[in-house]
This record gives sequence, C-alpha cells and structure tokens, in this order.
Amino acid sequence: MKETFSRRTLVSGAFYAAALIPALGVIGSATAAPALPQLDPNDAMAKNFAYATDTTKVDAAANPGHKPDQTCVTCSQYIAATGGCNIFPGKSVQKNGWCKAWVKKPGT
Ligand code: SF4
Repeated sequence: MKETFSRRTLVSGAFYAAALIPALGVIGSATAAPALPQLDPNDAMAKNFAYATDTTKVDAAANPGHKPDQTCVTCSQYIAATGGCNIFPGKSVQKNGWCKAWVKKPGT
C-alpha cells in the first residue's frame, strides 16, 4: 500500500516540528539537575580519601594501590548524570580524578 503526502501536510509538519524543538529545550533545561559544586581536594573528607583532581598527579608512594588508569569515570561510585560521587554526596568530582575509594566500574 502506497501512502502519499500532500505538500501542505509536509509544510505543516515541518512547521510544527520547528516550533517543538525550542519547547523541548525549555523542558530539558527545566528538568536538568543543578550543577553540583566541585569537591575541594582540601576538604577534610577528601583528604581522608586522598582525593586528587588529576589521577596522574597522585602521590604513588603514599598510595601504592593507585594505578594511573584509575579515574573517577571508571569508578563504580561515579554518577555520570551529575558528575557526582556516592562517596562525596552533593559534590562533583573531576572525571580524571581519583581517590582511595576507587572501585572498577564493570564494563570499563
Ligand atoms: Fe572518584 Fe570513585 Fe573516588 Fe568518587 S570514589 S572520588 S568517583 S575515584
């Protein structure tokens, strides 16, 4: 069965699609989670976990279990949707960061 569309149908469809795109943007921004403040490496709890904003700058002598390929984005505690971490609620962490609580995220 062959369906045909009139030019009017195509034009009105394009018009409604064009009108809908900005509306979706407003809805998306209204429901987006507010940005979390960055975790300060000098925060007492961050220090307890030896949190570093850059995994390549972790003190290897003080953290013998650390490996350079361990980062927050490969950690099971990392919350990709917000950039947050389950260990530091209400704070965001650097994707390339690291701390002693790092646990490999399955599939990474
Ligand atoms: Fe990063 Fe994982 Fe430590 Fe959270 S627990 S700061 S995601 S390494």
